[in-house]
Amino acid sequence: MKCIFSVDVEDWFHTLDLPSTPDLSRWDFLPSRVENNFGRLLEIFSEKQVHVTCFFLGWVAQRFPHLVKEADRRGHEVASHGYAHRLVYEMTPQAFYEDALTSKKILEDIVGRPILGYRCSGFSVNGKTPWFFAKLIEAGYKYDSSVYPGPRGHGGWDKGLYAPYWLGNSSEGLLEFPITTTQILGVPMCFFGGGYLRLFPSLLIENMTLKVLREGRPVIFYVHPREIDPQHPRLPMGLRRKFKSYVNLKTTEAKVRRMLAEFEVTTFRAFIEDHIGQIIAASQAPVAVLGPVAGSRTEKLGAEAVCR
Ligand SMILES: [Zn+2]
Repeated sequence: MKCIFSVDVEDWFHTLDLPSTPDLSRWDFLPSRVENNFGRLLEIFSEKQVHVTCFFLGWVAQRFPHLVKEADRRGHEVASHGYAHRLVYEMTPQAFYEDALTSKKILEDIVGRPILGYRCSGFSVNGKTPWFFAKLIEAGYKYDSSVYPGPRGHGGWDKGLYAPYWLGNSSEGLLEFPITTTQILGVPMCFFGGGYLRLFPSLLIENMTLKVLREGRPVIFYVHPREIDPQHPRLPMGLRRKFKSYVNLKTTEAKVRRMLAEFEVTTFRAFIEDHIGQIIAASQAPVAVLGPVAGSRTEKLGAEAVCR
């Protein structure tokens, strides 16, 4: 079982849900650091000879299309992080659909091939957004990695499903890759990305990675370009958020290098190509996962048995 390595390609000011989070209309006027930081990540990946999945924010792709082209040229998978980095549970189903579709089209225009994968901002899909999967299918996505199956500040949706699973019927559906968690004292916990990766010591992360791999699940690592840039500007915020957003920034690059040296990593797309049969065979209870929304496409998908 391999690990999957991913980058959410956004800038330092895309920290979510703060009074100081700048509005989309201001982004063009802020000093950007994503070009430099993402470029450095690409160098690390080349040095380690690995391919990863890059979930580009549509806004970043539009402003810096050469970053998307360069990731694609180096053999990485280009995927979508939505357009404007809005929380799913703060959007209407239609607004979410338009945001997800806009970023997909921007990326497809740049790389000239279909974009299969999606990850929402802040893993902000939850039980109050049951339309999420149907809207992604409608927008043409084939897989998603947005569900955080445990307690979390933004979102969190624990349905007891921790391994990748298939949602839908034999002809139409979506593969969901929940963010990797492992049970610690009965609570699903993540050690493998963002603040979790920064906070925990490398040895613990390695042990937890081995534990998950032994259970037959892939470990999904994720980083943001700003996390290897300890000097990036800070947004004003309270102490608790400051800790979560900026703890151990100085150690992240070394941790990323260590994980890439210790574990075999691949892209979502390559993982799917190798494991699609296994995932579909192991998937259960599609109705419970999709949730009923009367008259919607979700209901149609949920009523179908999982393809076996
Ligand atoms: Zn993000």
